[in-house]
Amino acid sequence: MSQWTGKLAFENRVLVIATMHRKEEAIAPPLQAELGVQIHVPEHFNSDRFGTFTRDIDRPANQLETARLKLRHALELTGKDLGIASEGSFGPHPVLPMLPLNRELVVLIDQAHHLELVGEATSTDTNYSHATVKTLEDVQAFAKKARFPSHGLVAMPSAEPEDKGLIHKGITSEADLLETVARLLSQFGQAHLETDMRAMVNPTRMQAIAQATQDLLHKLKQTCPNCGYPGFEMSDRKPGLPCSLCGLPTDLTLTAIYHCQNCGYEDTVSHPDGITAADPSQCPFCNP
Ligand SMILES: [Zn+2]
Ligand SMILES: [Zn+2]
Repeated sequence: MSQWTGKLAFENRVLVIATMHRKEEAIAPPLQAELGVQIHVPEHFNSDRFGTFTRDIDRPANQLETARLKLRHALELTGKDLGIASEGSFGPHPVLPMLPLNRELVVLIDQAHHLELVGEATSTDTNYSHATVKTLEDVQAFAKKARFPSHGLVAMPSAEPEDKGLIHKGITSEADLLETVARLLSQFGQAHLETDMRAMVNPTRMQAIAQATQDLLHKLKQTCPNCGYPGFEMSDRKPGLPCSLCGLPTDLTLTAIYHCQNCGYEDTVSHPDGITAADPSQCPFCNP
């Protein structure tokens, strides 16, 4: 990233969004409004070759690297130098494993200015779930919990179906769901149901992608005071805020370190949360 040109210019440039799942509905409006770019969604772009949630195609790399691969492919395909790709992941919350967690990354690459920036959003508000069902009552219960039919479902014979052709995606009507499941039940004695996490059939995920886009726009405006590169953000917090009663250090933040990913410049900010002393209730000495 050492070839940074020191300025940003987005006005009237074409920005490619590497998606085939209508993610541009969440990503495009704020970018058009705030950056003045012209949005281009490639017509024959197949993002599924970079992995699907339904396990019929495995993801080639980790979440961020997959988003980069998608984006580089879309830029090559279109011959443009500015673009965005997004990639989501779902799984148990790292601290509260009973809760599902959705992490969305939105990556912007500007080849003309040697810039890469990543917006991020994490949310526990997701319908992400799965269940193996044997009766139509189980199906109804799962569908309700999964926010169906405003959110789509996927049905298959088992959690690891040998025949990928038996994975039915994008079920968004009661009739389609009942017909598909009835067929699976009669043929296999069970059906495996999953929430369809593709953005165009999952409005909750679409919202998380919109949040990650806002984070990206926020980072674009946080520029390094030394070189002007965007994404100048907090990289570390140091505890030690003194207690207001006894003056001993607490676990609350005393200073924050801001770091530039381009030139390495660092800024130390005292009292980043706007408070200069900790309440004694937070003090290990006054309130052990
Ligand atoms: Zn810098
Ligand atoms: Zn104290």
